[in-house]
Amino acid sequence: MPAKRTITVVGGGVIGLTTAYALIQAGHSVTLVEREDHVGEQASFGNGGQLSYRYVRPLADAGIPLEALSWMLQADSPISLRLRLDWKQWRWLADFLLACNARTNKANAARLLELALQGQQALNQWRQEGLDDFLWRKPGKLVVYRNAHKFSKAAKSISNPQQEQVLTPAECAQVEPAFAGLASTLAGGIFSPDDEVADCYLFCQALLKSLQQSKDFQLVKGDATLEDDQSDRCRVRINGAVWQTDLVVLAAGLASRDLMQPLGQRLPLYGLKGYSLTVEADPAVLPNVSVTDYDSRVVYARLGDRLRIAAMVDIGALNALPDPRRIASLKHLAEETLPAAGPYASAATWAGMRPATPTGVPLVERTQWRNLLLNVGHGALGFTLSCGSALTIRDLVEEMQP
Ligand SMILES: Cc1cc2nc3c(=O)[nH]c(=O)nc-3n(C[C@H](O)[C@H](O)[C@H](O)COP(=O)(O)OP(=O)(O)OC[C@H]3O[C@@H](n4cnc5c(N)ncnc54)[C@H](O)[C@@H]3O)c2cc1C
Repeated sequence: MPAKRTITVVGGGVIGLTTAYALIQAGHSVTLVEREDHVGEQASFGNGGQLSYRYVRPLADAGIPLEALSWMLQADSPISLRLRLDWKQWRWLADFLLACNARTNKANAARLLELALQGQQALNQWRQEGLDDFLWRKPGKLVVYRNAHKFSKAAKSISNPQQEQVLTPAECAQVEPAFAGLASTLAGGIFSPDDEVADCYLFCQALLKSLQQSKDFQLVKGDATLEDDQSDRCRVRINGAVWQTDLVVLAAGLASRDLMQPLGQRLPLYGLKGYSLTVEADPAVLPNVSVTDYDSRVVYARLGDRLRIAAMVDIGALNALPDPRRIASLKHLAEETLPAAGPYASAATWAGMRPATPTGVPLVERTQWRNLLLNVGHGALGFTLSCGSALTIRDLVEEMQP
């Protein structure tokens, strides 16, 4: 049995909560610090709900810079770029462009797949142990392609044909009849039968509820800051007061970048804004499987009796407020693709900032400070990678000497 440590986890999003959960299960004593009134209400709140364990290719890939240029001319474009006089943005974009090649993409996708599949196993076990009430289902995920070249490229990159089945447009319509109307516009699809969906916000609440049953857990509402204590350790303060702890895990999403600044370390994180709609619809018209419309990069997931639709990457947004023009574009795309689930006019709307690294690979690692670990930068896949990242942190803690 490893030594019991007192550990402070900074940030109550899906990453901080899964980390706290894995650490409590490993027998440690955990304080979770969250500066907002409630957990799970920032980037983890209204996300796409996809646990897309098999579909983890990073955005940075060969061809993306050219494709992005063509998107700039489209009103409904999946990516929008607003250049700013901000070196953090330029630095991130330069690193992103460097990662846009097939070799880097393949290596990073392999790392993400490993983390995702570890997470799938962990979530399965946590569910068996009683974690519940977050609208979890395993309907599989269908990625549909309208462009024949992109479909053929994706089909060629498949490594496990059992887990990623290449489908004709007619087969796509059989797998998900709600999208049958699209069949004539499709080049084909790839179906991952083991992929899952769930409500990430409800998952956060389920984790908190379970954590609060442990006498070794406490939630503290407060603003955490980090500072160098002029040794090989860092100090954490909560609302200005020094907080005694053996270890700190930084899991504060995009804010982690600013939290590391007093330590003189630059985290390569940038906020990629995205949007979601949540529609109450007649269950009879809702899709069962989760669907990604690859060319527009829109994802559709049924969460209970609601449909969650998520999309778009805005580079250069200054905050997470929904942009009415982008919301209108998303409603228009959804209306065209799945009219029966509408009307979309009354859909609940949301926007959030994905805390993204240029490569798409999160930073789940020890640091030069002996008592500080990072669990940050999960970008577009934070829900999918959360449980795997939490296990990585648990294992790193166990390797560390008290
Ligand atoms: C539109 C959209 C769709 C998405 N769809 C999917 C999807 O389908 N599947 C998927 O896997 N991922 C998806 N994602 C990505 C996923 O939502 C994120 O990667 C994930 O939520 C990031 O979690 P986090 O815990 O790192 O950050 P957050 O959820 O933002 O949590 C960080 C927390 O830290 C707190 N905090 C910050 N600073 C401090 C401080 N100083 N002291 C104390 N607390 C602090 C914040 O208040 C916040 O609660 C999507 C994201 C978006 C925006």
